[in-house]
Amino acid sequence: MGFSDALEEETRAVARVPVCKVELIRQEMNDTDRASFDSALLDLDNISTEVIRRAVNHGREGARNRVGRKVLSRHRNQLCPCFASEGVS
Ligand SMILES: [Zn+2]
Repeated sequence: MGFSDALEEETRAVARVPVCKVELIRQEMNDTDRASFDSALLDLDNISTEVIRRAVNHGREGARNRVGRKVLSRHRNQLCPCFASEGVS
């Protein structure tokens, strides 16, 4: 996916709901997977962002459905819209 496609997709995602793609995928998970995902995100010392990205994308077909490293990294570091303070945008 090129930058302009990605930008368009991200812009639409942000406009629809104030959360990033990672959070949208997280919300689709069952409780067990979500808990596992959350603890992996917090385990900065033992689990790399790349490992989490691969696990999240496991079985997800097509570039549009996959999570990119930058998006995941932003979410993990709380720099994405999910963690923005009130009333941004
Ligand atoms: Zn996020």
